[in-house]
Amino acid sequence: MEESIETLAELIVRSRRIVVFTGAGASTESGIADFRSRGGIWDKYNPEDFYFQKFLTSEESREKYWQMSTELYESLREAEPNPVHLAIAELEKLDKLDCVITQNIDGLHQKAGNSREKVIELHGTALSVSCLSCRRKYDRNLVQQRIRKGFRVPRCDSCDGLLKPDTISFGQAMPERETNLAYERSSVSDLFIVVGSSLLVQPAAYMPLRAKQAGAKLVIVNRDPTPHDGYADVVINGVAGEIMARILDKMRERIGN
Ligand code: NAD
Repeated sequence: MEESIETLAELIVRSRRIVVFTGAGASTESGIADFRSRGGIWDKYNPEDFYFQKFLTSEESREKYWQMSTELYESLREAEPNPVHLAIAELEKLDKLDCVITQNIDGLHQKAGNSREKVIELHGTALSVSCLSCRRKYDRNLVQQRIRKGFRVPRCDSCDGLLKPDTISFGQAMPERETNLAYERSSVSDLFIVVGSSLLVQPAAYMPLRAKQAGAKLVIVNRDPTPHDGYADVVINGVAGEIMARILDKMRERIGN
């Protein structure tokens, strides 16, 4: 592992348009469960219950959705950035970062200090809620207060439409601007670093392949193997927080910062 850490530090020093791609594994060290690990959300809930079509058509599914989503939100509301987020924020300060493409919905990259324009939230954000009919936006905390008072499926004050967190469910259209931007930035990056993603969710998992095809070096930092490991120049399996902190130290040694 030591050699791979040295290699990645050197790649960072030499690169100028780094794209970091994060998944739920980047935030587990902040106390937010991922979906697919043991003890993760899909151990407790069945993903098939959360298709967007079901949310639109069944009150029972909406109730289940809000129950799962409330549980996830409660863990991320007070969460603080961990060394993964801090290392990525540091890359921006050092003017190395083109952008962060994140599948996460927890807002922790911004909380760690990355500027909003550098963070592409491919699967939306859990911090706000919108009406699916009139698109009125609500602060998530206000909606959660209603749920605590017993509203199991909250509705819009303006038009009585369905409220849903601004996250992308299975079967729901990807946000066009973010998807196009992620594709474009992946295509021009010179170093693409995946941190904490199983790379099983499409189309997000296509971004590292796009970057590699377009000439970037590809590095994957993840606890478990991923289906794209064979395309990577460097794979580092381990705890992301420790690895990212060590890489940052090595990199600072090299640039004398
Ligand atoms: P995933 O659950 O499919 O995979 C997470 C990966 O991270 C796993 O391969 C696991 O080995 C790895 N991992 C977990 N903890 C790690 C650690 N400390 N260090 C290194 N690796 C670690 O997650 P995914 O690939 O992001 O895709 C699933 C979906 O989950 C995404 O769409 C995302 O929106 C959603 N999600 C987000 C959050 C969040 O915002 N924090 C939480 C749960 C799920």
